Amino acid sequence: MAEEIFEKDINALADLIVKSEKILVFSGAGISTESGIPDFRSPGGFWTRFDPEDFTIQKFISDENSRRKHWGAMTEGGLITPDAKPNLAHYAIAELEEMGKLYGIVTQNVDGLHQKAGNSEDLVFQLHGDMSHARCLSCNDRYPMEEVMEWVKQGEDVPDCRSCGGILKPDAVYFGESLPMEVLSESQYRAETCDMCIVLGSSLVVYPAANIPVIASRSKASLVIVNMEPTDMDHMAEFCIKSKAGEVMSRTMEKVREKA
Ligand code: NAD
Repeated sequence: MAEEIFEKDINALADLIVKSEKILVFSGAGISTESGIPDFRSPGGFWTRFDPEDFTIQKFISDENSRRKHWGAMTEGGLITPDAKPNLAHYAIAELEEMGKLYGIVTQNVDGLHQKAGNSEDLVFQLHGDMSHARCLSCNDRYPMEEVMEWVKQGEDVPDCRSCGGILKPDAVYFGESLPMEVLSESQYRAETCDMCIVLGSSLVVYPAANIPVIASRSKASLVIVNMEPTDMDHMAEFCIKSKAGEVMSRTMEKVREKA
């Protein structure tokens, strides 16, 4: 019975994709768990092991000891994931781009897996920045994260900027920091003007990011939520699929290919 319902939902999602022309994907940490990157709020997730209080921009800037803990947690906590590979869900979205249907990916993720799967840089809107680089808070110089992590591994537990000695910080958005304005306004614009929005792996509790599917739904786009657990926005969706994003999206794309 459960399999029948699942099949019905996959069919319905494929039908919507076939008839839509401007699909906006909204992705969260849940899309990358099948790539081995833990999310934040599921059992064993980052916030079950680390205190969010330690990850504010104020603490990072004002307290060298906090920066030391921080760089350690980055590797232990699995936030730096240079070897992670895209999974079936990421590749399904890359296929949507090849089909000319993808209007954009608004992502809360900082892992760069959409680009690794083949999506164009200019279609990926990273609301929370990314972990592939570190930036100097004084002179703005950027360094590839792999280079900075090499310094950390060699014993520099609080790495500094090579140009000016300033504080280096991963180029992700921390608590207490604003979201990048241009990325946010372009994401909002795409949410207002898309004809379909698919949420993949997000608890939809982090704002203002979580407003994106709300804007899409209020702008009359079809909203579908694919998430393992219920969210507070399920009532806004045409339907929800409570299953793994990779499995759902790969089976859906098989149907889309048949139907198209
Ligand atoms: P979240 O941890 O709050 O929620 C993730 C949701 O995904 C959960 O509801 C969970 O049930 C669901 N989920 C887990 N695995 C899934 C799967 N295989 N298929 C479908 N659903 C699945 O994450 P969020 O909503 O993205 O918000 C938290 C913040 O976490 C964001 O700001 C983001 O920057 C950050 N984050 C990013 C990464 C990453 O870049 N990969 C990893 C951890 C956290």
